[in-house]
Amino acid sequence: METQKPLPPFEKMEKMSSEERRKLLDEQLKWLVAYAYEKAPSTRARFDEAGISPSKVSGIKDLENLPLLRKDALVDLYKANPPLGGLVTVPISELERVYVSPGPIYDPHHSSETYWQRHVHLVKSVGFRKGDIVVNSWMYNLVPAGLMIDEALRRAGVTVIPTGVGNTELQVQVMHQLRATGFAGTTGFFMNIIDKAKEMGLDVSKDFNLRMAVIGGEMGGGPIRKKVEEEYGIDTGDMYGTADVGLIAFECSAKSGMHIAEGVIFEMISYETGKPVEPGEVGEIVVTPIDEIYPLIRFGTGDIASWINEPCPCGRTSPRITRLLGRVGDAVRTRGMFIHPRQLEPAMAKFSQIAQYQAVVTRPGTRDDLALKVELKTEEGVDKEKLASELIQVVSEALRIKVDRVEFVAKGVIPEWHKLIVDERVY
Ligand SMILES: [Zn+2]
Repeated sequence: METQKPLPPFEKMEKMSSEERRKLLDEQLKWLVAYAYEKAPSTRARFDEAGISPSKVSGIKDLENLPLLRKDALVDLYKANPPLGGLVTVPISELERVYVSPGPIYDPHHSSETYWQRHVHLVKSVGFRKGDIVVNSWMYNLVPAGLMIDEALRRAGVTVIPTGVGNTELQVQVMHQLRATGFAGTTGFFMNIIDKAKEMGLDVSKDFNLRMAVIGGEMGGGPIRKKVEEEYGIDTGDMYGTADVGLIAFECSAKSGMHIAEGVIFEMISYETGKPVEPGEVGEIVVTPIDEIYPLIRFGTGDIASWINEPCPCGRTSPRITRLLGRVGDAVRTRGMFIHPRQLEPAMAKFSQIAQYQAVVTRPGTRDDLALKVELKTEEGVDKEKLASELIQVVSEALRIKVDRVEFVAKGVIPEWHKLIVDERVY
């Protein structure tokens, strides 16, 4: 069997044209498919079942008929084929660590060079650099997050303080005394640390040496990040990933969406038809990481997002996730119909005067009430009554159920990263 050709340095790849990148990734995929077919019995079974011969795969376009590998399927595969689901290409004894995420799914911590190249390049791209001292408060036990980010940071030349979750007061002390320059963790926990520091009589902008906080992992972080930047002078960044695949996307300094990391084959598909969706449309994020030890080919993340594929001010050419809209399972049943962010998004995209919006389902009496909260970019020259009636018509049509009313709300009421449809019914 052929050996894997190494990819060029990712610093070079990130500015390549889409075609050049595509060519390199197609080549990698061709190799990866053949390798996984040979070494991972469950992958072999998937290809055989779909009637796809690895020798016929020359690029991602040849995989369209391979059904997605979903989290639910992983559960079944791990149950049926212990210990590693027939998905990992080396025996368990050759792995460095095994994560439980959650059982019966086990994620391997391994030494694939392409995997680590991706992670190191990603943490550097999000803004960490050699010389940084970073508090890593991602969870260190059971799940991959803590140790994976730890290793990526260390390989990038960063000094890591592995605090993990909790012990807020201790984290404040450590951050203060060791003059930490960076933080990695959830937005919520970072705010706990800030509050605790104040409680302990510390001035976050003066007594801390924090330069950069990468606080991803939850939606709704937008206004909080703004506050962190403006009030404390700490730059913020965001990353996206899954336990199975690792880190997938990162925000660059332009802060206008998250770039897909180099070393990941990225597809956006319609959850309904399984067909590719165009940039600007909403779809499910599907990835194939170039990872010869854990080759998850066409992994359906279940995350719904909007995306663009246009030049970024930072010079990188990879596609960007512009907004995470929730999970495939986020559809909200309203008056007997499922309504989903993917129906709402394209309808709302027709109204350029709107900055933020959110559909809210409540049940004041016996009937579900569907309200559309809307924040305008500017009130100037907007005929609210006319706009409301247009909105009701267009959105009702898209959702296939009637929108009861439009509520105009002030700036900031709807957080920047938020669920597009919320269910506030009390049962
Ligand atoms: Zn960029």
